[in-house]
Amino acid sequence: MAGLLFGTGGTPHSAKTGSTIDGIKRIAELGLECLEIEFVQGVKMGEATARLVAETAAKTGVRLTVHAPYFINLNAKTPEKIKASQDRLVQTARIASLCQAESATFHAAFYLNDPPEKAYNSVKEYLKETISQLKHENNQVWVRPEVMGKPTQFGTLEEVLNLCTEIEGIAPCIDFSHWHARTGKFNSYQEFTSILDQVKDRLGRAALDNMHIHISGIAYGKKGETKHLGLKESDFQYAELLRALKDYNANGFAICESPNLEEDALLLQTTYPTLLEQTDSSRLEKS
Ligand SMILES: [Zn+2]
Repeated sequence: MAGLLFGTGGTPHSAKTGSTIDGIKRIAELGLECLEIEFVQGVKMGEATARLVAETAAKTGVRLTVHAPYFINLNAKTPEKIKASQDRLVQTARIASLCQAESATFHAAFYLNDPPEKAYNSVKEYLKETISQLKHENNQVWVRPEVMGKPTQFGTLEEVLNLCTEIEGIAPCIDFSHWHARTGKFNSYQEFTSILDQVKDRLGRAALDNMHIHISGIAYGKKGETKHLGLKESDFQYAELLRALKDYNANGFAICESPNLEEDALLLQTTYPTLLEQTDSSRLEKS
């Protein structure tokens, strides 16, 4: 993948309808490059629609990712709930594959007052089973546990990276805004590059060439994330993040989850090349 592709988490507000197909068309009209299909309330798309989605994406050149349902908890207390969570993830990856989407992110679990190591082992065991099922089906979609914004949610940066080193065939979805909200830190160029260093050290350079990240403005308190905001309404240093991603030559999907969707996705997309120029000219001045 060459460079960062910018798009929205869900169909842009300015699309003709809320449908995924109209969403893809609008992404193309706006000059954005990718769309994350939100299955957050459940996978309700049928196979016929998924094939039309794939066709529309191919025609317009828009690349696709998906977001799995929120109702997944691989650390649930009953075998039935674990099984239902695994099924939702499998369903998501199957429909993503039919849509020709390349990457599927999901919220792995809640701690439910368990020690983090116990939750980690549970997520690892059940995710391994799910991935091996998808492999058996020859599903090519990248499955990605997301870095989460609240301390009650499984998904610190370390947990996500640890899973990725232990389970073959998965990769991280790094939500930089979540991590900032959860820690109250990680909001400067240096801190952003420290995350990218960690990704590179743990998973190799290839992980920086195949990223799936989320960016939005965010509000937060002692209990982490409270809500998403527009980038300009929040303290999130998105230009510093983009500069870090640029300097590390990061490639992949940059999905904007601000409430104003396309407005901030376009802000990110237009900010990114201006940073490139600044970096270049400052290098020239130095030499
Ligand atoms: Zn998410």
